[in-house]
Amino acid sequence: MYLKSLELHGFKSFPNRTVLSFERGATVIVGPNGSGKSNISDAMRWVLGEISSKSLRGTKMEDIIFGGSDSRKPRSYAEVSVTFDNTNVGSDARLDCPYDEVTVTRRYYRNGDSEYFINKGKVRLRDIYELFLNTGIGRDGYSIIGQGRIADIISRKGDERRGIFEDAAGIAKFRHRKNEAERKLAATEQNMERVQDIVNVLGSRLASLERESVKAKRFIEYSEVKRQADVQLWLYDTEGLRTSE
Ligand code: ATP
Repeated sequence: MYLKSLELHGFKSFPNRTVLSFERGATVIVGPNGSGKSNISDAMRWVLGEISSKSLRGTKMEDIIFGGSDSRKPRSYAEVSVTFDNTNVGSDARLDCPYDEVTVTRRYYRNGDSEYFINKGKVRLRDIYELFLNTGIGRDGYSIIGQGRIADIISRKGDERRGIFEDAAGIAKFRHRKNEAERKLAATEQNMERVQDIVNVLGSRLASLERESVKAKRFIEYSEVKRQADVQLWLYDTEGLRTSE
């Protein structure tokens, strides 16, 4: 698997559709200060699922949309697509996805709406996050080292630094699944407690319901006896009338 291309459209300082194609080996992007080099790595982090505008060097998510210039109007949305070659070349790792080429697209509108796609199919942000888990590529992956990131990693607390190493070692996926399973377990336990409460309430009504059930059975038995007695009485009366005629 390797990074093939990155496409920006309306993202920060890239109002026009701009495609960066990466060949195998190293690619260097050069340019004067403020020309948009870091915006490219921001676009990469964003399309991989970054949700913190601070990490994208902004104050709100809208800051990633081209804001206009003297000669150009602002754009109404920003879109970034990243494409990976996902064929199994050599010992390269692959994305857990049945395609030889995987394109992830993220779109953000000024009104706050977001859209996510994998190979043009609509997905959730969570699907993108899971696609890149354990690859080191995701939004928190160690493969994107921005300015000051090394200093940031070194100064982090043990737990946070551990997360970075776990992702690199391929454990993060299992930790994520474990957390998911624990969350579901907790929800199931709560459901069980609720069911137990209902059982307890019904249990307390059981004795009185049993008493009522005995009475009801007796009522049915006596009703039958009465019905038979009524029939016999009617026969007796009818016989008496016939003999007295
Ligand atoms: P340096 O090497 O100094 O860090 P750089 O090449 O990395 O510079 P960037 O920080 O990527 O430059 O780009 C900064 C430029 O992007 C600024 O000119 C800024 O005005 C422009 N920019 C950022 N956000 C937007 C936006 N939403 N709309 C238009 N332009 C933007």
